[in-house]
Amino acid sequence: MEGNKIRTRFAPSPTGYMHVGNLRTALYAYLIAKHDDGDFLLRIEDTDQERQVEGALDIIYNTLKTTGLHHDEGPDIGGPVGPYIQSERKSIYLEYAQKLIDKGEAYHCFCTKERLDMIRENSEALGRPHKYDKHCSHLSKEEIEEKLASGIPYVIRQNNPNTGTTSFDDEIFGRITVDNSELDDMVLLKSDGFPTYNFANVVDDHLMNITHVVRGSEYLSSSPKYNRLYDAFGWEVPKYIHCPPIMRDAHNKLSKRKGDASFEDLLSMGYLKNAILNYIALLGWNPGTTQEIFTLEELKEQFNYMNINKAPAIFDITKLKWMNGEYIRMLSLEDFHSMALPYYKKVITKDIDLMKLSQLLHTRTEVLSEIPGNIDFFEALPEYSPELYLHKKMKTTYENSLTSLEKALPILEGLDEWTFNSTHDSMMNLVTELGVKNGVVLWPIRTALSGKQFTPGGAFEIAEILGKEESLKRIKVGIELLKGVQQ
Ligand code: GLU
Repeated sequence: MEGNKIRTRFAPSPTGYMHVGNLRTALYAYLIAKHDDGDFLLRIEDTDQERQVEGALDIIYNTLKTTGLHHDEGPDIGGPVGPYIQSERKSIYLEYAQKLIDKGEAYHCFCTKERLDMIRENSEALGRPHKYDKHCSHLSKEEIEEKLASGIPYVIRQNNPNTGTTSFDDEIFGRITVDNSELDDMVLLKSDGFPTYNFANVVDDHLMNITHVVRGSEYLSSSPKYNRLYDAFGWEVPKYIHCPPIMRDAHNKLSKRKGDASFEDLLSMGYLKNAILNYIALLGWNPGTTQEIFTLEELKEQFNYMNINKAPAIFDITKLKWMNGEYIRMLSLEDFHSMALPYYKKVITKDIDLMKLSQLLHTRTEVLSEIPGNIDFFEALPEYSPELYLHKKMKTTYENSLTSLEKALPILEGLDEWTFNSTHDSMMNLVTELGVKNGVVLWPIRTALSGKQFTPGGAFEIAEILGKEESLKRIKVGIELLKGVQQ
């Protein structure tokens, strides 16, 4: 391995979904490595055996694959510093925990759950943060050996000093110093022999030669304890890059458990993977220019992690929608058509020209999942209120709407050819003949054809897709409806 090659890792726990925040961590870790031709590793952090979820690994592999964040080493492809799944590294953690014990930097703890609960309750009663009371750090060698021999379950804890301070440097948040009296003797190895995240992340990042640790800012407060572990081993501390939280609003973090969308949810809502990735890149990072649309290649070139923000980022679905619309417009018509087809099929069973529908929707769609609700009127005219004909700006009334439709009907019936141009030209002639504003004819026709206030496209585009027979039928329905109001 080259000495100064940048190596980053994405280290998800297999939870069964890809949280937007996780994907951002993966993206940033990928970009930091690839900006400098470095290596991007995938490591699976499955040490919490109670939280195993079926199929969770596939979600991780699939996400990296579909987003193009290809890893250079990982459980599925191997590499020089494997295994890349923590549950397969148990013996390594035990070996390193033992080394810390030998150095006096860690100790066996045999405390029962009841005793630990009592300490916790005491701290709560006193309004103090919970901290283990170091009871077992005072056990003699003999006592420890005796307990181990009699098979009493134990954990291994870090042995932190009570006095002095510990500092660490984060590339984004700067230098952070804490009083050692605040450092809990955290568990390194659990009684089931699995390491905690707190221990495994340090051992693995070191053994995997990770140079830049990229992760969420929720790990900031534990990092002094991690530094003490690096120091205890005499290892070089990697660069820390803690990313700001992603918020739903000013006060709440984005949370899958509280119903916020995961990456898979966004995909199934009709967002394009590239648009999501592009949007996520900007959640907490800014390029220092006004550019907003980036390919992954451009991100690789331009990503400078020193431009990651400290301030929380707000997940703004409106902005994502806009960006998704931009990506949809960048698709070829054919690609858009094949992506939109499944959404057409949800509401359209009639034999209409779906390619024409795509021509209409390609430039007017922000999210694919909006399509069914926007086009269902092509399948069947919805029931609608005559008030839909009233439009202030178009200067329509019940009377002039009825006149327009009644005048339009025979003209349209007489058309030999039914195209956008033929309906357009004949109706524009009618506008001239009646001496009215365009809207006085066009608004009622569009309303009659769609039964909706908002439609993709105007009257003539809709008419062309509906066909002559259906269009005339709908105009007649409109005439009857307006006649009903007149009486
Ligand atoms: N397994 C941790 C998580 O999913 C990873 C944190 C890290 O990247 O170090 O939150």
